[in-house]
Amino acid sequence: MSIDLLQTLAPEKKFRQDQVFRAWFDVNTDSYEKISTLPKDLREKLKDKPWLSVRVHAMHESKRDNTKKALLKLSDDRLVEAVLMGRKNLTRDGGRDRYTICISSQVGCGMKCAFCATGKAGFTRNLTVEEIVDQFRFWQKFLAERSLGEIDNMVIMGQGEPLLNYDNIKNALNIILNYTNIGQKQITLSTCGIPVMMDKLAVDKDFPAVRFALSLHSAIEQTRAAIMPSHQPGFLDYLVGWSKKYHQMHPSRAHYIGLEYIMLGGVNDGPKDLKALMTLASKLGKVKINLIPYNNISTIALPSDFNESPKENIEHWHTSLIDAGFVSTVRYSQGQDIAAACGQLRNAVEMKQLLASN
Ligand code: SF4
Repeated sequence: MSIDLLQTLAPEKKFRQDQVFRAWFDVNTDSYEKISTLPKDLREKLKDKPWLSVRVHAMHESKRDNTKKALLKLSDDRLVEAVLMGRKNLTRDGGRDRYTICISSQVGCGMKCAFCATGKAGFTRNLTVEEIVDQFRFWQKFLAERSLGEIDNMVIMGQGEPLLNYDNIKNALNIILNYTNIGQKQITLSTCGIPVMMDKLAVDKDFPAVRFALSLHSAIEQTRAAIMPSHQPGFLDYLVGWSKKYHQMHPSRAHYIGLEYIMLGGVNDGPKDLKALMTLASKLGKVKINLIPYNNISTIALPSDFNESPKENIEHWHTSLIDAGFVSTVRYSQGQDIAAACGQLRNAVEMKQLLASN
């Protein structure tokens, strides 16, 4: 792997680093040599560095909706995925479509969630700050070259557990927030819940106040432990206490706790599961419950032990949660035909490539 650009820049003065980071997001600049504000010796030092640390290995476009999935190759030939999801701008005056990107935090993932294709590949390494930022820059450039508009939301829900790459995610977020128009409320970090890192996050004033989402998937300890091997005993009680610290740190209305709940038929979608979810959610302060229909990956990737929850059942849960006073949405994932759903980004061919490359 080539030396991370940030290591090369580390001895430079802060304003020099600023000049480089500003140029990173200028879509008209495409090499370090072209950053005219840099002194000649620094340009010389940087001239052999690739302008982007990720390059396209494969691109898949959904035929059903405006979703694209890029399989990106890193400098050590490892592969990660990043997704672009477009949606119509329905404002009265028209305007350009809006775009959300989903980026990865690690090569592979060690969390082994039973319903997730990524977890089956295992963990390889953390992404560098540059590789995280460059997923954003890759899609920014992609949109600019096609005059399609700008990224207006980013979710860290691709492959990997972001809180286990804490410092790099934090630094990458600070760079993106400082040098682009995207704001804290337009970014969501999703974790499967690592208590020691959540404790750190809840008191870290330097960690950007992005939105927080927890992959809950069950409010019953045994069920959650069965489908999420990373689940730690007593986590749900811990979560209640942690939520109080989180809301103290982020009192604004925008800072609800997102609860992600993938609906697995016959596993976590029964009446007792719904009751347990409501009981837990009522103790967590401001929450938004996101129900996610399961995308059966067996048709596109690997044999799966899970089935989709019936659509009527998902609607029943949604209505029940709303009636009980919770904020809830059903997230019908975009890009299902290209396996771009969160945590299920793989198709069979890519899975083979990833297993071989990682
Ligand atoms: S769902 Fe997320 S945390 Fe779980 S294995 Fe997949 S990538 Fe890792």
